[in-house]
Amino acid sequence: MKICFACLVFLLSTLAAFAQTIAVRAGRLIDAEHARVLENQTILLDAKTGRITAVGAGLTIPAGAQMIDLSQMTVLPGLIDCHTHIADGAWSTEPLAQVQKSAAQSALESVKNARVVLESGFTTVRDVGVYRALNDVALRDAINRGDIIGPRMFVAGAYITVTGGAGAMTGLAPDIQLPLDLRLGEANNPWEVRQKVRLLYHAGADHIKVLATGAVLTHGSSPYTQEFTLEELTAAVDEAHNYGLRVEAHAHAPEGIKNAIRAGVASVEHATLIDDEGIALAKAHGTYLDMDIYDEECIQEEGRKGGIPMDFLEHDRALGEVHRQNFTKAVKAGIKLSFGTDAGVCPYGLSGKQFAFMVKYGMTPMAAIQSATVNAADLLGKSNDLGAIKPGAFADMVAVSGDPLKDIHLLEDVPFVMKGGVVYKGK
Ligand SMILES: [Zn+2]
Repeated sequence: MKICFACLVFLLSTLAAFAQTIAVRAGRLIDAEHARVLENQTILLDAKTGRITAVGAGLTIPAGAQMIDLSQMTVLPGLIDCHTHIADGAWSTEPLAQVQKSAAQSALESVKNARVVLESGFTTVRDVGVYRALNDVALRDAINRGDIIGPRMFVAGAYITVTGGAGAMTGLAPDIQLPLDLRLGEANNPWEVRQKVRLLYHAGADHIKVLATGAVLTHGSSPYTQEFTLEELTAAVDEAHNYGLRVEAHAHAPEGIKNAIRAGVASVEHATLIDDEGIALAKAHGTYLDMDIYDEECIQEEGRKGGIPMDFLEHDRALGEVHRQNFTKAVKAGIKLSFGTDAGVCPYGLSGKQFAFMVKYGMTPMAAIQSATVNAADLLGKSNDLGAIKPGAFADMVAVSGDPLKDIHLLEDVPFVMKGGVVYKGK
């Protein structure tokens, strides 16, 4: 029998095409983009590209497609945490732990953090700084190569901070000289800030993190003080934009928050003591606030066990409740809010616990989910790829039994996780 060669090629490629289609049956689908819930949906995806090809109620499923049955579950886009620190090694609330271990130890300990975060339903993180500069770049690249398991990472490379400031390795005697990777992002005037932005861009950073004010969890730093001036913050944003990068600014004190917004940052992290003028400015500029209102629970609980330095605890106690009240104000004012937890303050894998606090302090469950999906993707500048279950986007999704719009706590323990069409947890 003679077989037409072209026909054979066609047949084989067609079979291959079938095999690379995955069909997910979703009983309920949270369409975060349009704030609605759809029922009995089918999601088709291409296993080769890891992207969604079609979503709908009456889709024809190609013969030979691999089926994933989530018909008894609620499916939602993979969650995004916009404020994590997963590349600094094993969980610790003491920054000085970094000088007690080698760079290799810190990097290898971070492998577990990445897997735990992904398995908790967070398929993407915006990682906003490491003490060991560029550990995050290495972790991101190892995940992207498939060497280790973890979320999609968008990384800062290092903290851009004043010497002795919120992102610096402080608490050591002044005559101890740190190695370069523990002080890479230190900058003390606008041109130094620009130079650090350039350096981090060339080293592989996806965005830039600046520390506009002092911090809670840094020795010798006060959250009530400004650290970078408006001129320095403007230099950071201007230089970052030159390279197509966005800037996020850590800021607790009200003037630092306002200067960061005026400078044109994409998001203000914490925004703890934001005042009415700051809220009006954020609204006018379309600046995201990324308010980590859950981690106070972990800080105080660890404090009761004696695991938090006393100076950090004092900073935190005074700020925690004000922070949550200001979150409520920001929700009422209609400010753009993204979901960021400061993972690394709480142990890894607990980010989902913040949803219930966001609802408790004034958000609807749908808005809380949007903050960790569509809003987060918008903040990253990745709305076509992330944050929604739609054709063209990465097949990043999670599923829970029950309705998270009725019981937001369901997002604290997600039983099904898919990233790029690959199932990492569940069926
Ligand atoms: Zn942080």
